Amino acid sequence: MSGSDVEPLVLVKQRTPPVPLETRLTCPVCGASAVETIPTDRCLYFYECQSCHTVLKPKPGQCCVFCSYGETPCPSACEC
Ligand SMILES: [Zn+2]
Repeated sequence: MSGSDVEPLVLVKQRTPPVPLETRLTCPVCGASAVETIPTDRCLYFYECQSCHTVLKPKPGQCCVFCSYGETPCPSACEC
């Protein structure tokens, strides 16, 4: 009986499915905050404040308004 190689059981880690991410965006103009969903397929470059209707744009060097004004930066698809 020759020893047979036992292949190690490799558990395939499943990538976490793209779940909608929510974060709180705070308007730098009026200070109002709102919970918004972070799109996972694109960057949200413009965001209109629901309170003062200022159209927010990302700060220089940042890719989306969530990186600039959100509590949570956008998912790893971006490089902020
Ligand atoms: Zn505002």
